[in-house]
Amino acid sequence: TADRHGGRGGHGGLTVLAGPTAVGKGTVSTYIRDTYPEVWLSVSATTRAPREGEKDGVHYFFRTGEDFDRLIEEGAFLEWAVVHGQNRYGTLRHKVEEAIEAGRHVLLEIDLQGARQVKAAMPDARFVFLAPPSWDEMVRRLRGRGTETAQEQQRRLETAKIELAAEPEFDVTVVNDDVKRAADELVSLMGLTPHARPA
Ligand code: 5GP
Repeated sequence: TADRHGGRGGHGGLTVLAGPTAVGKGTVSTYIRDTYPEVWLSVSATTRAPREGEKDGVHYFFRTGEDFDRLIEEGAFLEWAVVHGQNRYGTLRHKVEEAIEAGRHVLLEIDLQGARQVKAAMPDARFVFLAPPSWDEMVRRLRGRGTETAQEQQRRLETAKIELAAEPEFDVTVVNDDVKRAADELVSLMGLTPHARPA
């Protein structure tokens, strides 16, 4: 029998990690993927161009606009959204369903619009909001990343302000004050035992 979050016998199930831009969702989820082999981190499809060092099928499935249109028509997406008014990103339904069936601890790292779609489709999933320690810290992190233009950074900050207000829609909030600490808290919420590490 499935537990509340779709796992079997208290194992696995679906966890959605969302939160404002530049809060470190990507860093936390990548850390978890690399540290906890029990966790299956979904690889999204996107129409955005790969950044330096990003590999197709590893960081994203990089797709053309036409390919993405076709996937939408086929109903291939559990959710998809235009993020930052620019590129499209989507979760491939089939792969997520297979991983849940296989009893994996499935983790989606997606934006707020996507999280709302998953909540409508799979209300029993576990919805985790990743919050910055403070607004100033979030601005600092976004500026420090240096991968976007000033205009792009401004757009992301505006999105972030709106996204911060969505916290009450989530089951639980994890504050990203430290990547490993936040990751440990998240895996505990997923029903896993955090790895012991030196204090
Ligand atoms: P980036 O372009 O920096 O890799 O990601 C930009 C944003 O897209 C992040 O906020 C990330 O959470 C979001 N994102 C990545 N994959 C998906 C997805 O499959 N669906 C949705 N809705 N958002 C996604």
